[in-house]
Amino acid sequence: MEAITNLREKAKEIVNKYNKFAELNITNRPVYSNQISEIGNPCDRYLFYNRTNWQSKKRPESILGLIFREGRLHERDIKATLLQIGYETKKAEIELVDNEGLNITGHIDSMIEIDGKEYPIEFKSLSQNTWNETDTITDMLEHKYYYVRKYPIQLIFYVYLSGADAGFFLLKNKVTGEWKTIVMELAEYKGLVDITKERIKKINQSVINDEPPSVYEGFDEWICVSCPYNHICEKGLIYEKEIKESINLSNDDIVRLAKILLENKDSYEQYKKTDELLSKIIKGNGEGSYIINDLVQFRVTRRVKESYEVKGGEYLVINKKWLKS
Ligand code: SF4
Repeated sequence: MEAITNLREKAKEIVNKYNKFAELNITNRPVYSNQISEIGNPCDRYLFYNRTNWQSKKRPESILGLIFREGRLHERDIKATLLQIGYETKKAEIELVDNEGLNITGHIDSMIEIDGKEYPIEFKSLSQNTWNETDTITDMLEHKYYYVRKYPIQLIFYVYLSGADAGFFLLKNKVTGEWKTIVMELAEYKGLVDITKERIKKINQSVINDEPPSVYEGFDEWICVSCPYNHICEKGLIYEKEIKESINLSNDDIVRLAKILLENKDSYEQYKKTDELLSKIIKGNGEGSYIINDLVQFRVTRRVKESYEVKGGEYLVINKKWLKS
């Protein structure tokens, strides 16, 4: 009995030590430039604080340290496997710096030589859902997670500053180990470079003025919740206050439904997206009955919409945001 109790304690201790080990891997490094890996962040204020207050950046929780570590392990595995199948990658030898006075810097993870030309290659390991949702650069740029929207900006700046005319992502599915590649050409995405350069000019001016920039209209304030500068940023503090002052609903039925919704959040969104897309395609065939591969039947019928006048008055609008992922 005592042996089992000790074993339980020791087993727990292994996990605690592992979490501490992950925390040790997280450090705040001095930042004096606009880093390529960060410039796709949707918040200008975040980029400003990254330059001016990096010492105040909150340390991420150990889970984030573990996520970064996993990413590095996957990257190592991809490089070793590439070598085994006949492709050698090498590190870019110089630190990339723009020559337009924008103070943009970065390091390309790897370059790969194909047909005598060198291209930046960016490795990303993805969860099953993100993997399913990401087949093109547009999928990335329109992705619901802002950190996925950052990826193309990072790669296109590696391409731009290294003097290459294209680069590509090598994506790995963390669950199945599958790979896929997405090529990004500078000629097609030069506009993205130009827009980002304009943003960087605005950040640089704010740094000179020592005045945090405003956020753009329609900015998704939800990212303030997990922002490492929300304890010093005016906007983040307002958001934290709102959360503290929110009314807690603890009715059993409501909690149960919220839990079901949370558990199915990703698959639900995936389902909804796929369902909308499929319906649109099927409707394109006009009225009729359609069966897909003996899996599902769709019936498309025509209805006439009655027109009516909407009466004025007040009504409630509800929006939903997840507090947990
Ligand atoms: S708290 Fe919000 S507005 Fe402020 S820097 Fe962070 S993400 Fe941007």
